[in-house]
Amino acid sequence: MSDKNKITRRQLFKDTAIVVGTGAAATGVLGSFTPTPAEAAPVPKKWDQEADVIVVGSGPTGLPAAISAVEKGASVIVLEQGKEVGGCGVIAGGILDLGGGTRIQKLNNIPDSLQHLFERRSDYKDRNNKRNDPALIRAWCDANPGTFDWMEQRGVRFMDKLSPTGGSGALHTSVYHYLFVEKEGPGAAFFKSPEGVTSGAGLIRPLEAYAKNKGVKILLEHKMTRIIRKGGTTGRVLGVEVQAGRRKLYFKGKKAVILGTGSWKGNRFFRKLFDPRITDDLKASGEPFVNADGSGIRAGLEVGAALVSDRAIDIALFRRKFGTKHYNFPLNSPYGAPGLDIHGSRMADAIIVNKSGMRFVNEQDIGSFGTYSYFDASLAQEDHVLWTIFDDSAAKKYKWDINPPVTEKDCAFSAPTLVELAKLINVPGDALAGTVRKYNTYVDEGKDLDFDKPKNLLKSKIETPPFFAVWISLFVHDTCGGLAVNAKCQVLDIDGKVIPGLYAGGEAAGGLDVIGMPRGIIMGRFAGENAAAERPAP
Ligand SMILES: Cc1cc2nc3c(=O)[nH]c(=O)nc-3n(C[C@H](O)[C@H](O)[C@H](O)COP(=O)(O)OP(=O)(O)OC[C@H]3O[C@@H](n4cnc5c(N)ncnc54)[C@H](O)[C@@H]3O)c2cc1C
Repeated sequence: MSDKNKITRRQLFKDTAIVVGTGAAATGVLGSFTPTPAEAAPVPKKWDQEADVIVVGSGPTGLPAAISAVEKGASVIVLEQGKEVGGCGVIAGGILDLGGGTRIQKLNNIPDSLQHLFERRSDYKDRNNKRNDPALIRAWCDANPGTFDWMEQRGVRFMDKLSPTGGSGALHTSVYHYLFVEKEGPGAAFFKSPEGVTSGAGLIRPLEAYAKNKGVKILLEHKMTRIIRKGGTTGRVLGVEVQAGRRKLYFKGKKAVILGTGSWKGNRFFRKLFDPRITDDLKASGEPFVNADGSGIRAGLEVGAALVSDRAIDIALFRRKFGTKHYNFPLNSPYGAPGLDIHGSRMADAIIVNKSGMRFVNEQDIGSFGTYSYFDASLAQEDHVLWTIFDDSAAKKYKWDINPPVTEKDCAFSAPTLVELAKLINVPGDALAGTVRKYNTYVDEGKDLDFDKPKNLLKSKIETPPFFAVWISLFVHDTCGGLAVNAKCQVLDIDGKVIPGLYAGGEAAGGLDVIGMPRGIIMGRFAGENAAAERPAP
């Protein structure tokens, strides 16, 4: 083949990966490119450090993986590229969707069983379930209540309350358990009480302490750059290449390497392969605390792993915040402002306009209007310019403070007239004033002729000065796809064969349409236990 005709790895990757976004089925493994041996990391002459199991990432996948491996007698090193332990887990809100009959479910008289959990997670009438790998979802369901106990036994605490949502009785779809911790972590708590808060820190802090106590070595600011596989793409995974400051280091995993590296939601190129609408301007939730750059997934692909999709819908993929460009940080956080609490019924007091000063969507605060979502509409707006508009009555009613540190610079404005407000946010004044005038007539008539906003949300006219404009940020939140794994969390290649010595879980792995920390915690446990049981590489 002449050089001209050679397909570069990047091109081939791009071309094959497009299939992800166009509906790869549960079996639709991708990533069929094979890197040339020159691109695969060479086996180093000398390893800098070694352990039975190298875990990459210290989040909800990495820590349970490390603990499960060390408890089975393996020596474990955790490599974390960030400055703090915990990944997205430590800044998470702290609600865990677990079921199958946990202690807290029993305490709250919620009937459930492993079979019920499996039935609701594999019911294909719920399109969320369509891309679950059957063996993986069965194993994941079966591990639910046991994992709840496992966490409690390792120091994780829960509140007694429970929030079953999305249905009723034994087949409700979500059962949120509230993690408990005394103090807010680097992320904003989901729920606060005088005793403590619900936050992902309630998972990470105790597990971190437990892991260290068991002898797990955690190295911060150590970024895995490549996986080292014997023969490049053919043999056993032997370890990883790491960048630590200016130093390039080699870590040997005598038994295995586990990827708990999270998702690709912050990787500007990669995520467009899944959804071309996720342009570079859109932040990933967790940034800048976490760099979800997909480097673990990329490293897996380079040594021959397959990529698999898992989500059938986008409603959980995006999130929005008002008056901030960062997702879910507490007041006075160095990472970003919390923004204003505008949600649910409060949408009765606000409208949303685009760059032209026009409404473009029913402002109702639900992820999906049938097949079309609020986010679909927002992503279609020019430059993703989205402003919430409300008046002084609303601001007073909800105590919306548009000033820093609640909001961020250039994210909130007020003015005595709509035309002056429009000038501040760079939208046409006549259009904005006209939009509000028209909306107010819809409130009078009790009917939104443009977007059919529900009547119960058409209650308040926007008429009392001063008027306010608050920026809406869209965030890429949950992912849809990662490295293909089997029910033991062993990574598979494009032929469905196990890549010896390589495991993945949580958001680095695909095939499981379960969002959030329970995906990682349970898969991390599987990976850690199975990795520790491997025979050491000769
Ligand atoms: C603000 C926020 C709120 C959330 N709230 C909830 C909630 O209430 N409930 C819930 O269940 N879920 C919640 N989630 C989602 C949940 O946090 C994630 O699903 C979960 O953390 C994913 O776990 P993970 O271990 O797969 O990845 P992560 O938590 O992202 O951890 C991956 C870790 O690997 C590290 N890493 C990545 N690449 C490398 C590399 N090459 N070398 C070394 N280290 C690397 C990262 O720095 C990171 O620390 C929330 C997420 C966010 C951002």
